[in-house]
Amino acid sequence: MEIKSVGIVGAGQMGNGIAHVFALAGFDVLMTDISQDSLDSAVALIQRNLDRQVQREKISAEDVAKTMARIKTTLKLADLGQSDLVIEAATERETVKTAIFEDLLPHLKPSTILTSNTSSISITRLASRTDRPEKFMGFHFMNPVPIMQLVELIRGIATNEETFNACLAVVEKLGKTSASAEDFPGFIVNRILMPMINEAIYTLYEGVGSVKSIDTSLKLGANHPMGPLELADFIGLDTCLSIMNVLHDGLADTKYRPCPLLTKYVEAGWLGRKTDRGFYDYRGPEPVPTR
Ligand code: NAD
Repeated sequence: MEIKSVGIVGAGQMGNGIAHVFALAGFDVLMTDISQDSLDSAVALIQRNLDRQVQREKISAEDVAKTMARIKTTLKLADLGQSDLVIEAATERETVKTAIFEDLLPHLKPSTILTSNTSSISITRLASRTDRPEKFMGFHFMNPVPIMQLVELIRGIATNEETFNACLAVVEKLGKTSASAEDFPGFIVNRILMPMINEAIYTLYEGVGSVKSIDTSLKLGANHPMGPLELADFIGLDTCLSIMNVLHDGLADTKYRPCPLLTKYVEAGWLGRKTDRGFYDYRGPEPVPTR
């Protein structure tokens, strides 16, 4: 089962990065969204990101032209029916995702592999709502997609080996590295990363250290490229809280209890970089700790 064409649902932060890496690796890409503006912005952003790769001498100007020529967009979800592989990267809401699969199914050729880039929704449950749970799996990219090397591949309970191996070959063709994870809340990366971030917030909440001392400790004491609070601001504090809630609810263990201070920041609308304020205030020339 060789994959040549890829349909991407959702042209947001993740969808545009996914389109970028697939087209650069030689796949034909068809991207859809409910908004023409999102599609237009995604294409413009891919062009800018590719141009930046040329400036850094990672790719040639000719690669950019070939890559852009491989990316097509459509507002009609049904147009993705002939793709060999579909990656759903729409808004993280289960009703949105199940509605997309329901609308797409009647138009799909029988051999198409269906995947979701979800960070937190059960792959097995999404698969059960389709006509092909054996050809359904999780294809979880990290943000920003063109830069991050890892793809988590998640088998649902029914996913067959042929599907898994086809996706494994796709990740190799992208020049990325896969890690296989079972379908449990948070998979591997978020299962380990988010409790660490949450613990850093507890460390701040209990007054063990300041924002600066916590981030400096993990950067210089554990060799992390970013401190956990800086990283939380980068990811978005609302996203961190929502993933902690998924771990807490899905694994039913109090060790995943979201820190009340994290909840308070989200309630304040201090969501990190995207709102210019989180554990740091980004409104000035340099980020300043908010505690
Ligand atoms: P986003 O909000 O940036 O983009 C979502 C896009 O989906 C929007 O452009 C929206 O218009 C579109 N959309 C909504 N409903 C749609 C529909 N019915 N049909 C087609 N398009 C529709 O979100 P994102 O950050 O790109 O996240 C997308 C997915 O990737 C989510 O499942 C998320 O969990 C996952 N993910 C996100 C990250 C991250 O760091 N942002 C990392 C890994 C995985």
